[in-house]
Amino acid sequence: KGPDPDIEIITRRLQNVKHKILVLSGKGGVGKSTMTKELAFTLGHRNLLVGLVDTDICGPSIPRMTGVRAEEVHQSAGGWEPVAVDDNVSVISTHFLLPNKDDAVVWRGPRKNGMIKNFLKDVSWGELDVLVFDTPPGTSDEHISTVTLLQQSGGVSGAVIVTTPQEVAVADVRREISFCIKTKVPILGIVENMSGFVCPKCDKSSMVFPSKFGEGAGERLAKEYGFPFLGRVPLDPRLMKACEEGVPLREIASDSPAVIALDRVVDGL
Ligand code: ADP
Repeated sequence: KGPDPDIEIITRRLQNVKHKILVLSGKGGVGKSTMTKELAFTLGHRNLLVGLVDTDICGPSIPRMTGVRAEEVHQSAGGWEPVAVDDNVSVISTHFLLPNKDDAVVWRGPRKNGMIKNFLKDVSWGELDVLVFDTPPGTSDEHISTVTLLQQSGGVSGAVIVTTPQEVAVADVRREISFCIKTKVPILGIVENMSGFVCPKCDKSSMVFPSKFGEGAGERLAKEYGFPFLGRVPLDPRLMKACEEGVPLREIASDSPAVIALDRVVDGL
């Protein structure tokens, strides 16, 4: 059997992409897409060229969070052009390809896998410092096809795991860790999102639950497995607002402790 022509195309498409990072979470609602979007904006703010692939085929939220919901993907001679969010960040998502944006995407595995292949094979990514992948919660078809395709076409730099600080999230996170170990994806570190709360009156962050109630689980897990703990990002109502408005948090709240935390996360990568 000769080499897979699709893999050859993907390898060529990604040959000028320096780093490929997956963002994973054990379950939904922990702020994985929010962290993905803010990490992409933070990297872009440092003048790095960033591509953002929304592999959450059935529940794409990146276009809304980056303020490009109304945009469309254009076809050029070189392939599909990703949607530009600003000078440094561009996005691809199923959202752009749906004729009716409010329709449910009811697709089985093979069709989802095909779409992820299209994102890598047909998009003209060009030169990028980082390609960041938002993923659905858990470890499903989308994860397996993304990892498999990347590994066959130049490799994956690693994964960032997002969790909340409560102990209840730990079993789900262990499954993500086990997925990374099995698929040989290096773990770049763990981020504890919604860790503490930024008071709207004084803009300072404080813990919601003291550690004896289980907060700090992300840090303990990182220690246990021996991979980096990238930090705690507090709950800040302005971060939710930034997601609704599709802008970076630093644009509406540059002084937020969450901005400082996100900067540290990027420093740790
Ligand atoms: P997931 O991708 O894990 O399902 P989302 O990123 O969609 O989760 O986040 C769920 C909701 O929580 C969104 O409305 C988002 O704006 C909000 N959110 C996430 N992290 C924070 C945070 N640190 N502070 C405030 N709101 C947050």
